[in-house]
Amino acid sequence: EKEAALAAAATPSDAPTIFDKIIKKEIPSTIVYEDDKVLAFRDINPQAPTHILIIPKVKDGLTGLSKAEERHCEILGYLLYTAKLVAKQEGLDDGFRIVINDGPKGCQSVYHIHVHLLGGRQMTWPAG
Ligand code: ADP
Repeated sequence: EKEAALAAAATPSDAPTIFDKIIKKEIPSTIVYEDDKVLAFRDINPQAPTHILIIPKVKDGLTGLSKAEERHCEILGYLLYTAKLVAKQEGLDDGFRIVINDGPKGCQSVYHIHVHLLGGRQMTWPAG
């Protein structure tokens, strides 16, 4: 299990990711919310009836939460606020879960910070 989790996680890097192509619409995605700062789209491998990723359009070195600097505070807050707006839009009125995976042990695989919004089923705790 531990090995599988580590294998699922990529090596941390500031290189462009597949999310840049999604932002530029070079590859298709199902966008549920977009403005000048953020993009929210459906996860291709959903772990719940609703599974959406919310990402900043400009990465600005924010490969993951562990790389956050004070200049990122505004976008970090905006990502969470957008998650709330999208949860409402998706009708997740009885609750939802927000996840930010960080680094190999956090099982992060895409190094462009993203907030997972999961809902539409009963969540369990602790997360795996
Ligand atoms: P993990 O892969 O362990 O969930 P992350 O937290 O880095 O790690 O999440 C990356 C997410 O991006 C995954 O849930 C994956 O399904 C999703 N994903 C990867 N490629 C695409 C894509 N082209 N369109 C939508 N979602 C994608």
